[in-house]
Amino acid sequence: MNKLNIYNKKRDFSKTKEPKGNIDKKKGMLSFVVQHHLARKDHYDLRLELAGTLKSWAVPKGPSYNPQDKRLAILVEDHPISYRSFEGTIPKGEYGGGTVMVWDKGTWSSDGAAKDSLKKGMLKFTLKGKKLTGDWALVHMKEDNWLLIKEKDQFSTDKIDISKYDVSVKTGRTMDEIARNVKK
Ligand code: MN
Repeated sequence: MNKLNIYNKKRDFSKTKEPKGNIDKKKGMLSFVVQHHLARKDHYDLRLELAGTLKSWAVPKGPSYNPQDKRLAILVEDHPISYRSFEGTIPKGEYGGGTVMVWDKGTWSSDGAAKDSLKKGMLKFTLKGKKLTGDWALVHMKEDNWLLIKEKDQFSTDKIDISKYDVSVKTGRTMDEIARNVKK
């Protein structure tokens, strides 16, 4: 079964500008993206490239640099790798309708086989992004519920509120500018 069937079924590509789901088998550095998604509920989507797709979690409160914060991260359907550069507005009434910002992007890595770690329910990984860096963990709770936790390192802090980072790393636009389709 194609890992992107669920992604493709949920969307009407005649109505949304999101990319169609194709599995991408390139080699090299693994990418990650965090998209701020102002849908019915405001949330952030963490996506880690793995085996040709983006493993995806919806994080209602977004990531935190504070190791004390355990942020709920709900596993959602795999997304195509091309989704990492999607920024724009999904039409109202369509799946995920609302504004999407490329909030952070970069590369990620983990010691050992990430696929096995995910199966076992504990992935420790390192991000090299513009907003998110250093060591992180995804810990499985039950069903689709995971926790996203910042590990203690030189980047962890209780002094930064992520909401102060409110522009796209792709275009420098705010959510409001993306929603109004302002060109920058
Ligand atoms: Mn989302």
